[in-house]
Amino acid sequence: ALEMGRDIGRAIVNARLLKLERRLVDQFRQSDRAKTSLFATVAHELKNPLTSIVGHLELLRDDPQTDSDWSLGVMERNTRRLQSLVDDLLTLAKVSDPDRPLVSGQVDLARLTQDAIDMFLPGADQRGIQLTSDLVEGLAVVDGNADELARVVDNLVSNAVKFSPDNGVVQLRTRRDADTVVLLCSDSGLGISKEDQGSLFTEFFRSTNPAALEVPGTGLGLSIVARIIARHGGTISVESELGSGTTFEVALPATTA
Ligand code: ADP
Repeated sequence: ALEMGRDIGRAIVNARLLKLERRLVDQFRQSDRAKTSLFATVAHELKNPLTSIVGHLELLRDDPQTDSDWSLGVMERNTRRLQSLVDDLLTLAKVSDPDRPLVSGQVDLARLTQDAIDMFLPGADQRGIQLTSDLVEGLAVVDGNADELARVVDNLVSNAVKFSPDNGVVQLRTRRDADTVVLLCSDSGLGISKEDQGSLFTEFFRSTNPAALEVPGTGLGLSIVARIIARHGGTISVESELGSGTTFEVALPATTA
């Protein structure tokens, strides 16, 4: 009876191991699939501007009739696009690396938000967009990497301004809720459909809204933002109505010091 008991025990352990092995293989396959699809998208995104640059180079070299100002202009725009894609891809790789330490210090989100406002004010002003804020320094302090958190705030403010029509309003607020610090970035812009909201934080996602597609961008900003926030133990959520505006809410653990 003892021997039979041991056999049954072994059989149960083996069945569990087999199940675990299958689950791991499935997980690896799934992560490989995600990686392959990301590589394909990256290659595709790099290929279009490169093809255009090569095409115009050939025109300039082979056809004396080519309007060189036009060709140089197209080549410059596409080179800049390649530059921002490569910059964003490098940042995405950096903030996605689980082995890269989070250099940490006390960071005041109100301070970062004020810096972002100062940076985007001239551009917003030119389009009649009002940047308003409700910030109290010293309240919204978190432990984190100042450069990465600045990137989060800059990206949200930049999008809010980018996707607002002329004369819109962008509002920035920070507050402290018990042991959580909250940053709210609201705009009176284009808004995001319910369907698009589900894909916002996916690499290279750009809205299906034609008005939003007119605004240049890489579609990498919000995936970088989401990864930085996750690295800091926080969350990001979005509330939006097509045609009336968007609010992004970031919640991060308040400093423990
Ligand atoms: P990018 O701005 O470079 O396209 P993001 O990842 O920052 O990339 O944003 C992805 C998409 O989400 C944008 O293309 C846009 O369609 C939509 N989006 C982001 N922020 C806003 C906003 N504040 N209002 C409307 N649409 C937005």
